[in-house]
Amino acid sequence: MKIPKLKNQLHSPIQRIRLPDSIQLQINGCIPLVITGDVVAAGSLIAKSATVGNIERSIHSPFNGRVTSVSHSTVDIEGDWPNAQTSAAHYEATGIEADKIRESCRMAGIVGMGGAMTPTHLKLIPHRPIDTVLVNICESEPFLTCDHRVLEEYPHEIECGLKLAMTAVGAENGLVAPKINNYTSGYERFLVEETLGRKVPVNRRPTDVGVLVLNLQTVRALYHAVFEQRPLTERVITVDGDAIKRPGNYLVPIGTKVGHILECCGWDENISKQIIIGGPMMGDSADKNTPITAGTGGVLALTSEQTAKVKDNPCIRCGLCMDACPLGLWPGQMDRNPSADLLACITCGACQFVCPAQRPIVKNIQKAKNAYLQKSDSL
Ligand code: SF4
Ligand code: SF4
Repeated sequence: MKIPKLKNQLHSPIQRIRLPDSIQLQINGCIPLVITGDVVAAGSLIAKSATVGNIERSIHSPFNGRVTSVSHSTVDIEGDWPNAQTSAAHYEATGIEADKIRESCRMAGIVGMGGAMTPTHLKLIPHRPIDTVLVNICESEPFLTCDHRVLEEYPHEIECGLKLAMTAVGAENGLVAPKINNYTSGYERFLVEETLGRKVPVNRRPTDVGVLVLNLQTVRALYHAVFEQRPLTERVITVDGDAIKRPGNYLVPIGTKVGHILECCGWDENISKQIIIGGPMMGDSADKNTPITAGTGGVLALTSEQTAKVKDNPCIRCGLCMDACPLGLWPGQMDRNPSADLLACITCGACQFVCPAQRPIVKNIQKAKNAYLQKSDSL
């Protein structure tokens, strides 16, 4: 069974969402630099992590506004979202030094926008020789199309951002990965193998085979940081699902709450069964108060027909989960016969998606993996 792509919004141009009155920035692990009542300007630094070696994270306000609440994990701001303009100038990404690119990236608070949200300036420090930078455009989860639209509408910014990343790590080659056909191709290891024919061993990284993989919107954020001195305060997401009347690809300030997005996009609460941020395979359940982060690729409002019901019926040994697993594992049986195979699982969720018995395979694997690791530690 193939996982349906459901790329309904592939041809929907990016629209700027109506301004939210307030946003909530997640600052976990960072120290707030503002207090309640402070007036902040768009782009100003709101929170910063301690600097440990090269590691540093910074978070900026998308708003000109006023801080209404500060906790150890969040900062709330009310205000106006300025018209951040994309420059029409066509800059050339040549002659800029690697150190300057990394520094701009660090100052702009750029993190991996594919979901991992690790500080990108760390990835731009070449610890080993890198010959190729690969921009990941796979968006392999059903529904998500925002990266595709960004590439379609801002190709020059992607090209420049890619050249900047190549300069930073000293790579000679840069490539926007072609669209690939199956769900798991978006995983870095598989992407590198399918695109460049280089095998990345289990528990190793693409950089171990000379390849740096970056998310497409991360590359665009790098362009903004270097050429426009713009910190990372907004991103494009896909809003979709049958409980949404105006689905599409939307530019939103980071920190916008899901409730505002649903309201703008015509949410039909009566038929909405589940709200998800991210994609249906790897995303998380959300509610109206969940804020968008730099790593959020979508907001989905699914009906009961679209929602996978995890019921845990008995396994009928159909083998569909085996066919779906990119690693050739037997997902439905791994929890019963714990082995090192458990450690290879990348928790992509493909097996659970296709299981006709609606078994909670990923949860079972995770439980078995933890038990296996504990047992191995105690030996
Ligand atoms: S066993 Fe793991 S890697 Fe294989 S399909 Fe299931 S979740 Fe993905
Ligand atoms: S776990 Fe599900 S998909 Fe896998 S063999 Fe059993 S019924 Fe089929």
